[in-house]
Amino acid sequence: MPTIDVSPKRNLNGYIVSVSEVAFIETILSAYEAYTVNHITPIQGNANRYMRRKEVETHGSLFGNFSTGPNGETLCTINFVSADTSAVQGQGGVEPNLECMDMKHSFVQECWPYYKRVGSFHTHPYSTDERNDVTIDGLYDLSHDDREYIRINSRKLSGFGNYIEIVVAVTEYINKLNRVAVQACSNTVRYDYGKFRFWMSAYCCFEENGTLRATDLKDTSVHLVCPAALGQTMIF
Ligand SMILES: [Zn+2]
Repeated sequence: MPTIDVSPKRNLNGYIVSVSEVAFIETILSAYEAYTVNHITPIQGNANRYMRRKEVETHGSLFGNFSTGPNGETLCTINFVSADTSAVQGQGGVEPNLECMDMKHSFVQECWPYYKRVGSFHTHPYSTDERNDVTIDGLYDLSHDDREYIRINSRKLSGFGNYIEIVVAVTEYINKLNRVAVQACSNTVRYDYGKFRFWMSAYCCFEENGTLRATDLKDTSVHLVCPAALGQTMIF
């Protein structure tokens, strides 16, 4: 692949991703809906037959702003979220729609220029049988396919300001959980509701060898701040 002009470079001073209460609620509700509610989708090859599926993935656009922190960190504030209804939702993946990202990027830039499209979120639903693997195997990480999508679409994603990726993993337990939220690691917050457990994890994209790549699982240079889940967190 030829070298292309994407920016920015990796910030060695780190990243702080702050999710507003509204953005947190919107993201968790989207993950919850995609996990628990039947989605009616056509059966491939038979336009007149449909199937109902729960536990599908969902995708959305993040809006907010970037600035620089007191120690040179990249600060990203996510103010609100828009679920991307044109994404093709499946149980093993979700296919984002680049046209949708472009449209929302341009729309917000023109009508509400004090906000920018800053990235995307998508969900990873796991069945009850898989719930232990989420923590052990870090299944709230971007998958290999997610990372390939970012690499292959570097130029377009960079043009849409897509420098933050949020993954929300969700699974269901047999019994109701205590209402607990914890900072599971630097870039991940865990949130329990009823029998459902959510892990929200933040990844920051930067240019490397001419394409975009995202930070790794549990990268300690990325801090996810979620006051709506955890109360105010002092990180400076
Ligand atoms: Zn994924």
